[in-house]
Amino acid sequence: MAVLPIRIYPDPMLLKKAKPVQAVTPEIRKLVTDMTDTLYDAPGIGLAAPQVGVSLRVIVADPSSRDHTSELQALINPVILWAEGEETLEEGCLSLPNITEEVTRPARIRVSAWDRDGKDLQFETDGLLARVIQHEIDHLEGIVILDHLGKAKRDLLKKKLIKKQKELAEARM
Ligand code: ZN
Repeated sequence: MAVLPIRIYPDPMLLKKAKPVQAVTPEIRKLVTDMTDTLYDAPGIGLAAPQVGVSLRVIVADPSSRDHTSELQALINPVILWAEGEETLEEGCLSLPNITEEVTRPARIRVSAWDRDGKDLQFETDGLLARVIQHEIDHLEGIVILDHLGKAKRDLLKKKLIKKQKELAEARM
């Protein structure tokens, strides 16, 4: 079991586009295992590789992480093939501690990806899983929930987070 440190915004890793995985190697499978351990330890319902400092297109999602009633989705190079509907829900993010904001996204999506064995996967989903997958794919593009907000609110929250990070850094010195 390896729980990895989670990068906190505005860590530069969270702001850049992640690279596609070329092949599912033992290293990639280890990354998926470590990300899963980190997700359940946090605990969270979704995690993207850039959040643990790896700029690759890998995400894990389990909307029921607290009670383990659904299966974990590990998606490599995930792509949204189509999306429909619209839903507004409160979202949080392990990289943006103490912030929850309403975000509007499509309600239903069809996803294509590789699973942890490198097999092609295609499925449709809605509800919380569709929400988490879209949030995590955003991370692969260097997008965080702040980027879905209006400019004034985004700037305010960014300032708050940067200040908080500074205080933490100073407390560690
Ligand atoms: Zn997030």
